[in-house]
Amino acid sequence: MTDFLSRAREVIPPLVSFRAPMEVTRGEGTVITAADGRRYLDFSTGIACLNLGHNHPQVVQAAREQLDRLWHAGFATYPHRPLVEAAEKIAQVTPDRVEQVLFMNSGAEAVEGAVKLARRTRRRPGIIVFRGGFHGRTLGSVSYTTSAAAYRRGYQPLPSGTYVAPFPRPLAWGTDEQEAGERALEGLLDIFRHEIPPEEVAAFLIEPVQGEGGYYPADPGFLAGLREESDRHGILIIADEVQTGFGRTGDWFASQTLGWEPDVVVMGKAIANGLPLSAIGASKETFADWPYGAHGTTYSGNPVACAAASAVVDALRTVIPGVAERAELAWGRFREMADRYRTVGDVRGLGLMIGAELVDGEGRPDKAALEAVYRQSFREGLFFLPCGTEGNVIRFIPPLNVSREHLEQALDIIEGALADYESRL
Ligand code: PLP
Repeated sequence: MTDFLSRAREVIPPLVSFRAPMEVTRGEGTVITAADGRRYLDFSTGIACLNLGHNHPQVVQAAREQLDRLWHAGFATYPHRPLVEAAEKIAQVTPDRVEQVLFMNSGAEAVEGAVKLARRTRRRPGIIVFRGGFHGRTLGSVSYTTSAAAYRRGYQPLPSGTYVAPFPRPLAWGTDEQEAGERALEGLLDIFRHEIPPEEVAAFLIEPVQGEGGYYPADPGFLAGLREESDRHGILIIADEVQTGFGRTGDWFASQTLGWEPDVVVMGKAIANGLPLSAIGASKETFADWPYGAHGTTYSGNPVACAAASAVVDALRTVIPGVAERAELAWGRFREMADRYRTVGDVRGLGLMIGAELVDGEGRPDKAALEAVYRQSFREGLFFLPCGTEGNVIRFIPPLNVSREHLEQALDIIEGALADYESRL
C-alpha cells in the first residue's frame, strides 16, 4: 500500500472503501491521471455527474470568474445573478410543466424537498415509490430507496407513509415491455385497493430510467398509465431525474426522451458538472402553495455552483445533438457483445446510459464476472462503476462529449476483458 493510501485509511472511515485505490491528481475531459503518471479513461463520470467531462473549459471559467465576485449568499438572503440566470436556463430545458426552480445541495436533499412539497401542498400523507428505485441515502430518502435492502440494513424503522409499487421488469417477468407495463400498473391499482386509497396519496416518486437499480427504462405505456392515474386522483408525479438528466438519455431529460410529462422534476449530479448542486423544478402553481419558511437550506443556490450550472446548460446545447450518434455506436457494440459472449445476458438503458448485465451459465446475476471484467479493464486503463441490485451490471456512462476514439477504446477494453474471462471458464 502506498503512503498516500495509508494516510487516507487513517483519517477516512472504512465506509469510504475506494473502488480504485490510487491517488488521482488530475482530470481532463475523459482522462484522469494518477500520481504515478498512469492515465485512465474515466467512465465512472464521477457517478454520472461529469456529463461534460473533467475540467470543462467553459464551466471552469464561469466558476472561476464567479469565485472572485461573490461565492456565498445563503438561502433567501438576497438574490444574485447566477441564481436567477441558472433558474431561467434550467426552466427553459426541463419538461414542460417546470416553470420555477428551487436549488438544493444534493440529490437526496432535493428528493426529500420534493416529497415535502407534495405532502404539504396536496395535504395528503401517502408517497408511492417503485421497486428497484434509488432516491438517496438520508433517512428520508432511503425510505424511498428500494434498489437494494443493503441501503436500509440497520436503519429501520424508517419514516412511514411510503408504499412500494412494482416497476416494469420484462426480463425478470419473462414478458414483453408492454405486458410488463400493464402488470406493473395492475400492481399500483392493487395498492389503491388494499393499502392506501388514491385520495390519500400525495405523489408518485419514480426514476424514468432506474439507475442504481440496474439501468431499467420504464415502459412508455406504463408511464402514460401513471399520468392517467395522477390526473384522475390529483396525485403529483415527481420524476427523479438526478441521474438521467442533463443530456444523458439524448434529450435534456429522460421524461422528454420517453414522451412523458411529470409535474415535479428532481435534478442533481450533472446539473453543475460535479459542483454540489441539486434542484426541484415545478410549475408556478405547484410552488405557489408552499409558503415562506416551509423549507430551506443554508447553501441553496450557491453562486459558484449556479454559475457553473448556467455554463453547463450553454455547453450542453452543442453537446446533446451528438449524443445519439455516440449512443448508436456504443449500443451496436454492446449488442454484438451480447451475441458473442453468453456472459452478457442483457443490454438496456437509454441514450448514453447503458447497462450490460453479466450472468452465469444459468442466466443468474454474476458479480464475479463483473469483478473480473472490471479488474482487467482497470489494468488496461479503463475505470468504470457497476450498478444493479446484485452489483453485476456494467454501468456505461461516458462523458457525453467523449471522443469517438476514447469511446471505441473503452468498448475494445471491455470486449477484450469479456473474451479473456470466457476463455478461462
Ligand atoms: N436519485 C437518483 C436517481 C440517484 O441516482 C441518486 C444518487 O445516485 C440520488 C437520488 C441521490 O443523490 P445524492 O447522492 O446527490 O444525494
